[in-house]
Amino acid sequence: MSDFSTEKSQATQLDRDDLLSKHREQFHLPAERNGQPCIYLCGNSLGLQPKSTADYVQRELEDWARLGVEGHFEARTPWLSYHEVLAEQTARLVGAKPTEVVVMNTLTVNLHLLMVSFYRPTANRHKILVEAGAFPSDQYAVKSQLEYHGFDPQHSLVELSPKDGESSVRTEDIETVLTEQGNQIALMLLGGVNYYSGQAFELERITTAARASGCVVGFDLAHAAGNVALHLHDWQVDFAVWCSYKYLNGGPGCTAGAFVHERHARTPALPRFAGWWGHDKQTRFLMGPEFTPIPGAEGWQVSNPAILPLAALRASMAMFDEAGMPALVAKSRRLTGYLESLLQQKCFDYITILTPDVPEQRGCQLSLRVKNGKQLHGQLKQNNVICDWREPDVIRVAPAPFYNTFSDAYNFVQYLDDAHHMA
Ligand SMILES: *Cc1c(COP(=O)(O)O)cnc(C)c1O
Repeated sequence: MSDFSTEKSQATQLDRDDLLSKHREQFHLPAERNGQPCIYLCGNSLGLQPKSTADYVQRELEDWARLGVEGHFEARTPWLSYHEVLAEQTARLVGAKPTEVVVMNTLTVNLHLLMVSFYRPTANRHKILVEAGAFPSDQYAVKSQLEYHGFDPQHSLVELSPKDGESSVRTEDIETVLTEQGNQIALMLLGGVNYYSGQAFELERITTAARASGCVVGFDLAHAAGNVALHLHDWQVDFAVWCSYKYLNGGPGCTAGAFVHERHARTPALPRFAGWWGHDKQTRFLMGPEFTPIPGAEGWQVSNPAILPLAALRASMAMFDEAGMPALVAKSRRLTGYLESLLQQKCFDYITILTPDVPEQRGCQLSLRVKNGKQLHGQLKQNNVICDWREPDVIRVAPAPFYNTFSDAYNFVQYLDDAHHMA
């Protein structure tokens, strides 16, 4: 990225040229501390609050106050079908058909529900393939599913590691594992973007390889949704889950999403843990004893949804629709490329970037292995820079294209470098 300089004026110019810059104003940035404005680089952990969220939530509070139970039918957006208004926007976000997605529950819950249907081990084909060092919740979920089916994670969990001395998993190494052990692998479950390294897996290529080996393919898109371009339908992914409080700015613990490819839309033989909200809508309120699933992803719903978080999610999804993922991804690549270039030029002697340097193999996050990292992270916090610390030596920074500026990237590197020289 040699077209970037370390002059502050370039950051200012890049901000001026930024077609998405108006969106920053549409978010609440965290408060100043000691007169220092906040530099928020933690959208990979909790996205900022859109200013419009309050109106969306307030509307439902008013309708509930005004209507009580009748709000299920008479609210301005009736609660009975409230989740449906999110289907098209959600589908655009992940590259799916509206019937292939649903917003419900939380991420790990959705992961379990979909593994009930899509992890179907047999005596010969029972392994689950995951990335080594997957997000802990995914590790616990996968191991508990193996044990639930009577398999020992020691033998049935296959983990993909980077080569010695490398920090990303090579796609060809994944393909080799799939060729060599694919006939024993029932399910491949990977994070679309690894939370720790920031590596974005080549999802299309590895989906093709896994399916060629007869494996079911599921993705955890917690760090991918709203961060990288996704085409789940075309890629033929079997299922996927994601949360909406990271890049999607839905708010803490907001309702998660799930994708089920349409080839599984009407497969009565798939086992599932059913609940009344997944039941055929025409006959749901007849309250009959037999479960008839709604065709498509909605059939995996269990409970009637919490409306207030869905209202918050609508505020966010309207913004994603307005900006569009292609424009967000284009800015993200430039912004992260700029940050990378500053770090390479100014901090090369004490920082190693763990994240791939190829734009197609990452989202906005850079994971930095930092000498003396914990101390520097503390110093950054003193200057109201909010980024993330991971033991033993990694600082993760995620300039989100929706609300971060090139000046944020510039100022971050400046504070980091000042802290390094003071230490
Ligand atoms: C954030 C994250 C989760 C969180 O799961 P919840 O069920 O929402 O608490 C799970 N998996 C990954 C990969 C994550 O990044």
